[in-house]
Amino acid sequence: MTSIAANLQAVRARIAAACVIAGRPVESVRLLAVSKTWPAASVREAVAAGQRAFGESYVQEAVDKVAELADLVELGLEWHFIGPLQSNKTRLVAENFAWVHSVERLKIAERLAAQRLPDLPPLQVCIQVNVSGEASKSGCLPAEVSSLARAVAALPRLRLRGLMAIPEPSEDQAQQRKQFAVLRHLRDSLGMELDTLSMGMSHDLEAAIMEGSTLLRIGTAIFGERVYA
Ligand SMILES: *Cc1c(COP(=O)(O)O)cnc(C)c1O
Repeated sequence: MTSIAANLQAVRARIAAACVIAGRPVESVRLLAVSKTWPAASVREAVAAGQRAFGESYVQEAVDKVAELADLVELGLEWHFIGPLQSNKTRLVAENFAWVHSVERLKIAERLAAQRLPDLPPLQVCIQVNVSGEASKSGCLPAEVSSLARAVAALPRLRLRGLMAIPEPSEDQAQQRKQFAVLRHLRDSLGMELDTLSMGMSHDLEAAIMEGSTLLRIGTAIFGERVYA
């Protein structure tokens, strides 16, 4: 029987070890705990173990959870939306989240910009890129990133921070690194001030750190295997 606190400690140890190998300061990598499908009680356990940033993929589930955890607001919980985003859900996301990692079209970014409340800080945004080129995958194509990034960066109330990808799963670390490297090269080629590479999940966080990830999105290794209703 493992606990969320013990899992978090193990994940932090993996991150620290990978940072040593990569020759990077451990503070250069942030950990996002992906709490989708898990109840507010699991988030509370992670908060008690020191975790503050959480990732969610389903809008209504996330908004309910944010409300259930309103008593923790003084601890500075930071909510990141990382799932597919339809235009009819942008308002809830603009009102409840600090970050959105999954912007893949300008129309969605324009709606988020229009709906972000003026009294909130700018919404921090990443553009999701389909680095493997699989037709079924979310994200814009690599060839579209430059024009989309420039258009998003020009919108009010949003702050473009970088790029996000979910590569094709692979057991082979060389293959994992190749896909993460595509995202890093894309970011570098834009010639924009983008400080964020949102990449790396439970099974490939080491490869992501080697390729410059600044924001890991870790679910299973912290909360356990998800069961979808
Ligand atoms: C669910 C999810 C994760 C977490 O994946 P794990 O393999 O459980 O660590 C990361 N990123 C996105 C976009 C997700 O939807």
